[in-house]
Amino acid sequence: MALAQAAAEEARAAGEVPVGAVLVRGDEVIAKGFNHPIGAHDPSAHAEMIALRAAAQAVENYRLPGCELYVTLEPCLMCAGAIMHARIARVVFGARDPKTGACGSVVDAFANPQLNHHTTVTGGVLETECGAALKSFFAERRRASREARAAARGGAHVVASGEARPDAHTETHTTACSEAHAEAHPDAGIDARAEAGNEPGPPEPL
Ligand SMILES: [Zn+2]
Repeated sequence: MALAQAAAEEARAAGEVPVGAVLVRGDEVIAKGFNHPIGAHDPSAHAEMIALRAAAQAVENYRLPGCELYVTLEPCLMCAGAIMHARIARVVFGARDPKTGACGSVVDAFANPQLNHHTTVTGGVLETECGAALKSFFAERRRASREARAAARGGAHVVASGEARPDAHTETHTTACSEAHAEAHPDAGIDARAEAGNEPGPPEPL
């Protein structure tokens, strides 16, 4: 899982939601991947998908029996499907995803015997650490967003009144509300790939 966490930091460095995955067979690391749907313009570029593709290429087999996938965030339905197709023996994930998790949080794809007989799932491994990486990412993004809004407001205020300071009360109130929201909904920021999907993209072609 430590290797998956390191892969997640690669995603963070690329400005993507930090999720990382590692695929191992026994003691051998076959492949790893990090989440980067925005940079790749690819809605399927989740960490698990990247690791599965790389592993299949490495062993020249679209099935990966006997392999274990470690990922820092609970897989979504898409990744759960790919994991089943690849015949992964075991999935170990860190943080739970209350919005898109397909290993029990929203649905449990692996609990349906008609869908899958191959994969066992272990969740919540280093859950706090894996979740903290995501929370810090979204907290940083909220902070940057607040600063940008405050800068925009401050500029307008200075022009209007001649005061040097922006509306401090409003900013304090906004910040407190935002932090309170984050406190009340600690998992609000862990909708990793959905958050990524909400990023503004290029305009739709006409
Ligand atoms: Zn996924």
